[in-house]
Amino acid sequence: MNQRARAEATAPAQQTTHDPSESQKERTEHAAHSQRAAHRSHSGQAKPPAKPAQAAAQPVQAAVTGRLPLVYVVRQLVVDHWLSKSDADRVLAIGDRERYGHPIAVLAEMNFRTPDAHRRLLDLETLTQWLAEKAGLPYQHIDPLRVDFTRVVDVMSSAYATGYSILPIAVTPAEVVVATCEPFLEEWVREIEQISKKTVKRVVANPVDIARYTTEFYKLAQQVKGASKTGAANPLSNFEQLVELGSKVEANDAHVIHIVDWILQYAFDQRASDIHMEPKRDQGVVRFRIDGVLHQVYQVPPGVMHAMTSRIKLLGRMDVVERRRPQDGRIKTRAGGAGGREVEIRLSTLPTAFGEKLVMRIFDPEVVVRSYAELGFSDGEAKIWSELIRRPSGIVLVTGPTGSGKTTTLYSTLKQLATDEVNVSTVEDPIEMVDGTLNQMQVQPGIELGFADGLRALMRQDPDVIMVGEVRDRETAEMAVQAALTGHLVFSTLHTNDAASSVARLVELGVPRYLVNATLIGVLAQRLVRTLCPSCKAEQSGPDETMWRDLVAPWRSPPPHTVYAPVGCLECRRTGYLGRTGLIELLVMSDAIRVLIGRGCELQELREQAAREGLRSLRVSGAEKVVLGVTTIDEVLRAAPPFAD
Ligand SMILES: [Zn+2]
Repeated sequence: MNQRARAEATAPAQQTTHDPSESQKERTEHAAHSQRAAHRSHSGQAKPPAKPAQAAAQPVQAAVTGRLPLVYVVRQLVVDHWLSKSDADRVLAIGDRERYGHPIAVLAEMNFRTPDAHRRLLDLETLTQWLAEKAGLPYQHIDPLRVDFTRVVDVMSSAYATGYSILPIAVTPAEVVVATCEPFLEEWVREIEQISKKTVKRVVANPVDIARYTTEFYKLAQQVKGASKTGAANPLSNFEQLVELGSKVEANDAHVIHIVDWILQYAFDQRASDIHMEPKRDQGVVRFRIDGVLHQVYQVPPGVMHAMTSRIKLLGRMDVVERRRPQDGRIKTRAGGAGGREVEIRLSTLPTAFGEKLVMRIFDPEVVVRSYAELGFSDGEAKIWSELIRRPSGIVLVTGPTGSGKTTTLYSTLKQLATDEVNVSTVEDPIEMVDGTLNQMQVQPGIELGFADGLRALMRQDPDVIMVGEVRDRETAEMAVQAALTGHLVFSTLHTNDAASSVARLVELGVPRYLVNATLIGVLAQRLVRTLCPSCKAEQSGPDETMWRDLVAPWRSPPPHTVYAPVGCLECRRTGYLGRTGLIELLVMSDAIRVLIGRGCELQELREQAAREGLRSLRVSGAEKVVLGVTTIDEVLRAAPPFAD
């Protein structure tokens, strides 16, 4: 858009005075509209403004132009049998919209239900969909993660967008998609088409989102531009200069501070577990991991990303100038601003071809410590596990690949054991969640404090329960055995496929079979699967017999008649899944199993004996969750290995 065109697009709204206070906003918008309309009539460009109160007397769609009158919406809802007569009267009794806001927002707050048997709740989205249908326009929910705010804000000024209650949400070479909550207010369409030389595609979105995101997008875009202007956007050509720019001055730039704060809060809102900030040749990319899947959130100029990375490194007390070596750091902050719950963020940097890549792992204590049910334990499994972890001594292993939820299970377990009478100590790498009830030690290879050294030191501290982050060498395995033999309960993790393989792994690490038998008391194997979104999951017919038989082998059970499939809605960001749960395979050592281990049996023999004693494989645990409608067969097959491999 050239300068002149931009000035034109801004012109009508500039005549208005915008009161920033929220309570005044609607009134101002109305005033702005009248003023604009008057201006247009004068210049012969636009239709006269609608008179809301009178338009309502004619419940014909075509008769409505201009801003949506509350009366019109209410009457149309009654005509469509969406609202009862008595509810309608209640709304109309409260008065005109100029005092209360957009009709859709007003109605949504009253929590009406349809008068028919469905008793459907007339919430913001439902009413917005209804309005879209009335206007013959597509409905759209604005997903801020999919809007390139730096581009859309160039389409029109903030004042123009606010003045017409519209917000551009996508720009392609031929088209501008503009969200509106005033579908009968059309005078801006031609203007924007002329200025942008693109077709305007209107979609209807809810008024609350439009107002909120208009403020946020324009503010953020301004911050990014502000940060770019202060020199941060220099190309990566001059490394030395960048190192200098990357010092505290730039990272403390108010714009950068704001963008970083916003991204962090946004990640908490979206339940993200990780934030990736990846410098590329032309753009910096910000991605969130939500329920195990990465979503691209924003693209920012490389210089801005550099400033953001520096800012975060500052917060994490890392060496800001050092950019060629990987570094670690930690930030404690609060989700939802001051007064919110405390959240810990682990930072790590890595030099890449186009600059420093930063990954932030978010450890939300509320998410890290969970109940057994939330972890995916059935009642029976929770009972067995509770008994196991209350034994005075022995080794309990939690096994699974990285990202299978081992840490969450261990922390949740240790938190239960750590009381005034019980000393729980850990040796970890890294300490993923700092907790006041635990005595935690960080492994430091630099000063030769490995897992085994840490464990040795710990033993002199009279612990009752010990957690060793991971058993990955013979020395650590031997120390763990020693600790268990001297009356301690030892928890640790292994990277093995299933519970039975852990026995083989310990033997491989050099622990004699008789010592495995003497110390190991149980192994928990686990995996994470995504759980179906309860708001949108749909019933479908069950799987065929063969597929089901393979899933639950060596157990037998008839396939369920119905299962649930993912659909996708607003709650779940259209993925059909919301949150994750664990698949649990719990091996408890028995006399029969010890006999098998003692004589060096095959792995499969061990698995089958365990199954005879009641061990349910990861896939059986998953099958149960499929039957319960918690997850899907696809998720279980993806996450869990077959019983025999
Ligand atoms: Zn959903």
